[in-house]
Amino acid sequence: MASRSLINTLSVTSECVPLIKTGGLADVAGALPKVLKKNDIAVRTLLPGYPAVLKAVQSLSTLKVIDDCFGGSAQLLAGTHQDLDLLILDAPHLYNRDHGIYIDHKGEDWSDNIERFAALSRVAADIANGLVDDWQPEIVHCHDWQAGLAPYYMKVNNAKARSIMTIHNIAFQGIAPARKRRALGILPKDFNPEGVEYFGNISTLKAGLIYADKLTTVSPTYAQELMTHEFGMGMEGVLQYRKNDFTGILNGIDESVWSPEVDPEIINYKSPRGKNLNKITLQKEFNLSQAKGPLCVVVSRLSEQKGLDILLEALPTLLSRDGQLILLGSGDSWLENEFRNISHSNVSVFIGYDEKLSHRMIAGADAILVPSRFEPCGLTQLYGLRYGTLPVVSSTGGLADTVVSASPAAIASQVATGIQFNPITPLALSQALTKLCDLYEQPKLWSKLQRNAMKQSVGWKDSGHSYARLYKELLI
Ligand code: ADP
Repeated sequence: MASRSLINTLSVTSECVPLIKTGGLADVAGALPKVLKKNDIAVRTLLPGYPAVLKAVQSLSTLKVIDDCFGGSAQLLAGTHQDLDLLILDAPHLYNRDHGIYIDHKGEDWSDNIERFAALSRVAADIANGLVDDWQPEIVHCHDWQAGLAPYYMKVNNAKARSIMTIHNIAFQGIAPARKRRALGILPKDFNPEGVEYFGNISTLKAGLIYADKLTTVSPTYAQELMTHEFGMGMEGVLQYRKNDFTGILNGIDESVWSPEVDPEIINYKSPRGKNLNKITLQKEFNLSQAKGPLCVVVSRLSEQKGLDILLEALPTLLSRDGQLILLGSGDSWLENEFRNISHSNVSVFIGYDEKLSHRMIAGADAILVPSRFEPCGLTQLYGLRYGTLPVVSSTGGLADTVVSASPAAIASQVATGIQFNPITPLALSQALTKLCDLYEQPKLWSKLQRNAMKQSVGWKDSGHSYARLYKELLI
């Protein structure tokens, strides 16, 4: 049988599970290569050489030395890690830093973030033009503003490869002052509103949105929202202009990591009945009693986007029904303090980042709360569905696309999987929490909802096909 020819693809990302993660982008960048492989697409992932990455990846080999890489010399390394085929830009002057990958010890963005990721984008474009011997991508898939200049550099280089720009979150736009134009290698003719200029500044995200061949974002509803003034954060005009090249493809979850049947962190279960032991264990871990109401969890960055200030106002409703809350999160210090200061026997707050704990929480809880003001896709509600932990979500972005609200009609037709609320206000969330408590008091109905949730397809299969179709269309 003739061997199938694979489409060579370069994925350009600033984070990737299991090596380095601050949010959902890393989950997606880590999961997509595995899925795409099943669709005849071979992905190499280009990542910055942060200390954690260099430490974790064994047997690195040097492919190229780059003498002048945005203010210092660098090496392009190759290696593999688990299922990932990696190219790593080892540029110590850009990436060898303590603390966060984007922020310093004061919690502020590194002042040279634009150059740090322009370097990554430049090397991606050079790889598209033959920097690496014996391997050239046909598709360059760029993730978020950090990779936004890659499609621009590819156009300037006349690269043959096609490019895709994926927006994981429009709130981060890679803004730099115009005086950096020359240092970033942006031609004067391209510094205008039809190019990389964004209200007098440079936006690397906008560069990607203008120059990439195709644009995607991570859910169909977020794609529609992004073309509106309310959600587009100033990019709505560009996206409307490119609407024929712009689609929303839902994120999936990595079911080899997030499934109650195989999760090493929990007491495994196949049906809702098996959850209870996990709930009791979790309550013990957090010194919570076995209350009458539902045990709710939040696993989230603590930021304005995530709407957790709305939860603070609605929380008394849950507590008045003897419901419980465990929150795991970190982020804005005022929100951390607000949650830390809650003193109630049915509330437990863990400020920090803890992957393993997040598994135990999602397995042990009855419900997961995601009251985001906007949510490109959201992953934790998908974990919730998979674990029979009913999501209570605001009706926005990927949350609206993935949770079927328990209306009488949806319950009757056995499709309800959680609760959506709208508008995104404390009152509407309070009402949703009341509804949650009402449903929880009907055990038969509750377990039906759990079963519906656990039956949902939340893996990558369908979306993997959609990305593969997009790649293949680009090469016709
Ligand atoms: P975003 O990318 O906007 O932060 P997503 O829901 O798309 O939101 O992805 C967040 C990811 O980060 C999920 O995998 C979630 O479980 C994880 N996460 C967020 N905060 C924490 C935390 N404090 N501890 C462990 N995991 C977390």
